[in-house]
Amino acid sequence: MRLAVLSDIHANREALYAVIDTGRAHGVDAWLCLGDIVGYGADPQACLHRVRELTDAVILGNHDAAAIGQTDLAYFNPDARPAAEWTAEQLGESERRYLGSLPFVLQRDDAFFVHAELDQPSRWGYVHDRTEATKALGAIEPRFCFVGPLHCPFVCIERYGGVELLPKGPQPIQPLSRYLANIGSVGQPRDGDAQACFALWD
Ligand code: ZN
Repeated sequence: MRLAVLSDIHANREALYAVIDTGRAHGVDAWLCLGDIVGYGADPQACLHRVRELTDAVILGNHDAAAIGQTDLAYFNPDARPAAEWTAEQLGESERRYLGSLPFVLQRDDAFFVHAELDQPSRWGYVHDRTEATKALGAIEPRFCFVGPLHCPFVCIERYGGVELLPKGPQPIQPLSRYLANIGSVGQPRDGDAQACFALWD
């Protein structure tokens, strides 16, 4: 089965549609969204509508939580805060209810999906690098972990008792190893590559 994992769409409708077209061209069978459907971008309603059509497998992100008053805006940066306030004004009752119903984590067989922090998802702590990926993998048991909110994609492998960063590009799954994938952002990349980003897990 081919699962497409999307994260951090951030109300960027054009990027979301491009990713869906690309996923379909690659034979995606199922979709999963790691949250931050809204926040920053101009099309929160359209993106929420499209994600709801696409899949039931959706997790709450910190910007989604902010848009429905479920998280404190005090720690948002000066760009994010007014965007979150504007987003909140755009949402109707049904969108608010939908976001409020989303879980913090999903687990499927040996895979774990969370927006940000693996062991305390509601704290929204980011996994920035190999050191933090090592700590995160130590905190949970599943073999595959997918996280979102850094907006810079990277994949770490745990093998031979250590954790290493893998080079960019497709990675074959190796036996006796575990993985943490920070899957990058659909709608607001911050890695210097303006192309929309998502993960394809075959
Ligand atoms: Zn984000």
